[in-house]
Amino acid sequence: MDPRSLDPEAVSLSRQCVKCDAPGILAGADSRKAVYCAPCFVQMVKHKFRSSLGKRRIYKDGASKETLLLFDGSLGSAFALGQLVESLEDTQHRKLMIEPTILFLIVSTNTARINEVLKRYMDISTSLSIPFRIAHVAAALQKNFDLSDVTQSFIGEDQLDRYSQLLSSMRTSTAKNEVKRLLIEVITARFAIASGIEKIWLPSTGDDLARNTIQFFSLGRGKSRQFFSL
Ligand SMILES: [Zn+2]
Repeated sequence: MDPRSLDPEAVSLSRQCVKCDAPGILAGADSRKAVYCAPCFVQMVKHKFRSSLGKRRIYKDGASKETLLLFDGSLGSAFALGQLVESLEDTQHRKLMIEPTILFLIVSTNTARINEVLKRYMDISTSLSIPFRIAHVAAALQKNFDLSDVTQSFIGEDQLDRYSQLLSSMRTSTAKNEVKRLLIEVITARFAIASGIEKIWLPSTGDDLARNTIQFFSLGRGKSRQFFSL
């Protein structure tokens, strides 16, 4: 069996996890280098993730550690929040060098679904001792973005009708998704600016990045790709 094969079964036949005695069934991009058993692989990814956010990387030269974490209920955001909480509670390893604020984002236009998500976000946030706000992506349509307005149960509640009209005016799901994606960028950036936070932690994965890049080219907007974060 070719030891360079990316097939986990093939790797396991000949190699052992570099951290313990179990068979090595998982590897990074280059399986000729280290292979890991499943638990050690997860540990390795977590360590790499934490060190990539260390003071020599993102937060170098005494940069502010205030960071806005966008939580949209996706698997990526659940992983990011899990990593954050785990690190803040970890007393044995180096903590993430972050002073977090969480922006819980609602995207649905269905009232029942919005209430369901709102309740879920309230439950999650009360279990954490991290500052947070809840916003609907519709808040990106507000003319004067105002964080001090606490009359709404979430930021952007007053723009829901406009947001629904905007989406229903789009004829294709590609256009709808692109508008949603752009508005998510707008609301996240506006919230960060209004809160005086310089860094934003997005829950997107490499797959999202690749998908969006391909979509950019297919929409004939490749040239503007560099101006977007996702
Ligand atoms: Zn192992």
